[in-house]
Amino acid sequence: MVGESVKLEVRFNVFSNVPKSKLPTTLTLDRQMPQFCETAEVLVIGGGVIGLTIARALALRGVRNVVLVERARLGAEASSAAAGMLAPQAEADDADSFFNLCCQSRDMYPTFAAALREETGIDAELDRTGTLYLAFTEHDLREIDHRYDWQGRLGLAVQKLNPTDARTLEPGISESVRGALKFPNDIQVENRRLLSALIAANEKQSVRLMTGTSVESIRCNRGRIEGAVTSRGLVSTDTIVVAGGAWSSFIKVTDTASPIPRIEPVKGQMVCFNSRPSIARHVIYTPRGYLVPRRDGRVLAGTTTEQAGFDKEVTASGVHSILSNALEISPRISDLPLVGVWSGLRPRAQDSLPVLGPGAEVRGLVFATGHYRNGILLAPITGELIAGAIVDNVVSTELNAFGPDRFAAVGVNP
Ligand SMILES: Cc1cc2nc3c(=O)[nH]c(=O)nc-3n(C[C@H](O)[C@H](O)[C@H](O)COP(=O)(O)OP(=O)(O)OC[C@H]3O[C@@H](n4cnc5c(N)ncnc54)[C@H](O)[C@@H]3O)c2cc1C
Repeated sequence: MVGESVKLEVRFNVFSNVPKSKLPTTLTLDRQMPQFCETAEVLVIGGGVIGLTIARALALRGVRNVVLVERARLGAEASSAAAGMLAPQAEADDADSFFNLCCQSRDMYPTFAAALREETGIDAELDRTGTLYLAFTEHDLREIDHRYDWQGRLGLAVQKLNPTDARTLEPGISESVRGALKFPNDIQVENRRLLSALIAANEKQSVRLMTGTSVESIRCNRGRIEGAVTSRGLVSTDTIVVAGGAWSSFIKVTDTASPIPRIEPVKGQMVCFNSRPSIARHVIYTPRGYLVPRRDGRVLAGTTTEQAGFDKEVTASGVHSILSNALEISPRISDLPLVGVWSGLRPRAQDSLPVLGPGAEVRGLVFATGHYRNGILLAPITGELIAGAIVDNVVSTELNAFGPDRFAAVGVNP
């Protein structure tokens, strides 16, 4: 507090026409207001699942003064809108470097969730029942054949089920099902509990969480970071991680010709039911929609993929399409109480792949954005690879395909 009062006296001297006797002698600090911090060893922009995971990973690697700056509330954007599916096998058409990154991250989840539970006492409800991929049309049947073939050839865990077997596993699914795949390793996490655990873990590691504060620009000079200009003033640092989700490219970088790669918002709506006893045990997926049963009886039904700018309204047509896809999976949905609707903005880069790692032009500027449909899934590996790149100064080969400079190379930046 001694430091605070010195700062105040300097500021009051500016009002030299106010008699000194009229100036307050004491100041009550708002307890909600995060302490303004003037320096950071590493500053992370964005308090979603990605920023929180990276901040924790940095602190665990011994970085002492990590500051995370969040414009509004921690975890309140895409990360809490998500369904929490960790299902790369159900979604992939190919075994490319993105698929490998996703599988690696999924396989880190049991250790990641257990460590968070140990650190905070919060159970992120990692559910390892698995995912069922259902086929209702000729096209769906061809899709499951294709997935079964290439994943089987690679020795990945996947089982083919006939309609009877599928309905024995999940009696709530529609009688119209024509075939299914089971992906036993594609699992799910309760992403809102995961966020609570990450916030608590960061607090425990003494990461400074500055909420209600936005980073307006990144100041750099001769190719080096000097600090971040925030709505509360400058924070000096030589290392900044951009993890601002769909808003990442609003952040300006001074003194450089290369801007932050363009990240666009892609809206996804969600509908939530209550189901006791639960309508399903597995995550149930089709090419058109999915159901995700939660431990507390909620069932999430998703989703839409919309180019609607930064609009987050839930719309009648969005809910209508989610409901018809959910009813295709299980007609029993029609009897369930609908208990919530929401939407979120997925951050998508122009090639739909994440943007990860340092760029060549500005030393100390590191990207962790553009996770699009897979930010919850990719959080553990993003945290490890980005913290590793900063602390050990080694860019792992896994990051090669996802670096920020790939856009400049093909001239697709704005
Ligand atoms: C309906 C839906 C379903 C989804 N389902 C899944 C799923 O099943 N599995 C999966 O893996 N992923 C899923 N996703 C995708 C996942 O939610 C995202 O990829 C992930 O949440 C992105 O995390 P993030 O931290 O980058 O972004 P966000 O969670 O959006 O966080 C970014 C944060 O940065 C802050 N910020 C931005 N700019 C600034 C600034 N200048 N200064 C300070 N703070 C700033 C924002 O306020 C925000 O809090 C889904 C998304 C949606 C919308």
